[in-house]
Amino acid sequence: MIPRSFEYFSPRTLEEAIALLQKLGSEAKLLSGGQSLIPMMKLRLVSPEYIVDINRIPGLDYISESDGQLRIGALTREHELESSPVVKTNFPILSDTARVIADPLVRSQATVCGNLAHGDPANDHPATMLALGATVVATGPKGQRQIPIEDFFPGLFTTALKPEEILTEIRIPFPPPQSGGAYLKLERKVGDFATAGVAAQITLDDAGVCNSAGLGLTNVGMTPIKAKQAESYLLGKKLDDATIAQAAEIAASESQPMDDIRGSADYKRDLVRVLTARALATALNRAKGGA
Ligand SMILES: Cc1cc2nc3c(=O)[nH]c(=O)nc-3n(C[C@H](O)[C@H](O)[C@H](O)COP(=O)(O)OP(=O)(O)OC[C@H]3O[C@@H](n4cnc5c(N)ncnc54)[C@H](O)[C@@H]3O)c2cc1C
Repeated sequence: MIPRSFEYFSPRTLEEAIALLQKLGSEAKLLSGGQSLIPMMKLRLVSPEYIVDINRIPGLDYISESDGQLRIGALTREHELESSPVVKTNFPILSDTARVIADPLVRSQATVCGNLAHGDPANDHPATMLALGATVVATGPKGQRQIPIEDFFPGLFTTALKPEEILTEIRIPFPPPQSGGAYLKLERKVGDFATAGVAAQITLDDAGVCNSAGLGLTNVGMTPIKAKQAESYLLGKKLDDATIAQAAEIAASESQPMDDIRGSADYKRDLVRVLTARALATALNRAKGGA
């Protein structure tokens, strides 16, 4: 199918793009990588009257470090995350995540910010950003505001962004020494969305005790899920096999999967248990300097 006709705008500045979104209202859709929006338009699941394409706005494509935070700009593509040395060294969980999204063709266009802004619980970055405690920067007519990622996904395909706001940056705190993270996903075939996915990020103190834990779950609920009870359980404990197994049980109980073509709810809940245990084991190994 081909999309319904629409009017196309290609602003050259962020201010111009925001003014257009404000003027055109709810019938306008912002276009970044187009890897979710265009397929939805082709299927006529959405038919916006206006498209505001931000791809010609300079200065939005960057991965940088400042004030102890990794900053990812609005037009940073997935493949840039995959090949970034600063990401590879400090955020292996992000490299893990980018690598399992779709296929190289999609990753050459899809943006990391678009992956969050789409609000799809099947997308992979939301869980990882929940585990990392990221902050999202929304820029609108009144300037910038920062939204903790925990507050960014209020419902299915819904985000905390206002219609006239653009997600301009993701900020992620650099993990302290003795930190490690991992993202694991089961997919039916390469390029598919997750049957379930788990992101785990931990920090150990000098005695090897866990003093920080982040756990995010993909595609096992109406929104991406932060497994808060499992996170709390890990704090103050050495991550031996029994502790990891118990945390994995708790994370599974926090998931809210449904039966669908990818499997039954029971199967997915058990998958969360298995993936959480494996992601925590890899995160622990990386926190101790392993690969
Ligand atoms: C074949 C295929 C397989 C895929 N598999 C996976 C997968 O396994 N895992 C996964 O996570 N994703 C997958 N995706 C989705 C892909 O990663 C999307 O590109 C991504 O979810 C959206 O990013 P985008 O830049 O393409 O956004 P667009 O498609 O341009 O936009 C998506 C939505 O977000 C809004 N939006 C985009 N950017 C912003 C912004 N900066 N500020 C405000 N609103 C914005 C748009 O208005 C639109 O509503 C797949 C896509 C395809 C086509």
